[in-house]
Amino acid sequence: MSLALNIDHSSAVRPAPTMRPSLIGLSKAGLAETLVSHEVVSEKEGRMRASQLWNWLYVNGVTDFERMTNVAKPVRQKLSDTFNLDRPEIVSEQVSVDGTRKWLFRFRDPANPHLPAVEVETVYIPESDRGTLCVSSQVGCTLTCSFCHTGTQKLVRNLSAGEILGQILMARERLGDFPGGSRPDDGGLVPGGETRAITNIVMMGMGEPLYNYENVKQALLIASAGDGMSISKRRITLSTSGVVPYIEPTGREIDVMLAISLHAVRDDLRDVLVPINKKWPLKELLEACKNYPGLSNARRITFEYVMLDGINDSDAEARELVRLLAGIPAKINLIPFNPWPGSNYGTSPSNRIERFADIVNKAGYASPVRTPRGRDIFAACGQLKSESERLSRKDRDALLTL
Ligand code: SAH
Ligand code: SF4
Repeated sequence: MSLALNIDHSSAVRPAPTMRPSLIGLSKAGLAETLVSHEVVSEKEGRMRASQLWNWLYVNGVTDFERMTNVAKPVRQKLSDTFNLDRPEIVSEQVSVDGTRKWLFRFRDPANPHLPAVEVETVYIPESDRGTLCVSSQVGCTLTCSFCHTGTQKLVRNLSAGEILGQILMARERLGDFPGGSRPDDGGLVPGGETRAITNIVMMGMGEPLYNYENVKQALLIASAGDGMSISKRRITLSTSGVVPYIEPTGREIDVMLAISLHAVRDDLRDVLVPINKKWPLKELLEACKNYPGLSNARRITFEYVMLDGINDSDAEARELVRLLAGIPAKINLIPFNPWPGSNYGTSPSNRIERFADIVNKAGYASPVRTPRGRDIFAACGQLKSESERLSRKDRDALLTL
């Protein structure tokens, strides 16, 4: 494994965050209301200006009010005196040997400028037929899944809708995805047949999205709106550890694809691996899945299953998995465990993963094994954490042999 390229953008040319409130992350109606209540435009003009602004922000990726040429100059002036369009600051951008990119973004809370800035990680995974952006919903996580690195970082705070969208906007800017933007030098980023580098969004970064439901909902509604970022809802996946009461609202109100971090087929083991299971055990979780709005064979739920050596990877567990999911249109995503500093688990050997996948496949489920991406830059599933830590020699050696 060779070293990742680490570009330091800590001195990126970004204006210092201001105390003016941000306009990123407001629904169109909310934006119209804000413009009117700050007396930037009259009540009559509110909706029209909000549509124009949405187009500049989400279709054209503009960060400077002066570039909004169809907005009258005095209005542009008032807008820049009153609001900001700041994107996160890039603390670092790393590119893996496999093309995966990881950013460490820093946000300040304009409503509470006295609070310390927070940092989150966002990952871009280019493949031949798609480009997926893995977005964070919280700084840290309140949950403590025993195999997840993020779970060792205490929750600092929820991200706002604007900060969730800010990750997507900044990634699109860096990947040259806005009109007139330039692609990074390494090329090959735009998947075959696509015009954009980012075609898919997964809410699989740091945090539990359903513990920050309102902000995630607002951000995804803007990401998927035809006059917003127009990313198809079929190409947006929200992953949850199993916050049962919010599963039905997710389907009804956000209407995106659902992934469930299952990882075990018995409550006693799932209680240890995914402790939220003590609150909402398997039976309730699977019942909520069966009732997910819009569920059909064309729109299946993805069940994520991390392969932990000797813990949850036996043939009997593969058969039990098939039995549990009977009657739910499902895909099963097997994820080889990605180690992190201090983790107590090992990755199942590849022949074990193949055997497990075989049993699941024979039962009629598509069960792709997720190829770990960006492990060399700690960008793979479950490795994200925004407090830097040094890897112990033992873990580093383990990582190099994978
Ligand atoms: N909090 C949400 C989404 C973020 S985690 C959730 O738990 O679903 C994205 C996926 O990576 C989840 O399925 C999670 O269980 C899995 N994951 C966490 N740590 C991992 C690790 N070390 N190796 C492989 N997958 C991991
Ligand atoms: Fe939180 Fe998801 Fe990690 Fe569990 S797996 S600790 S829910 S980020």
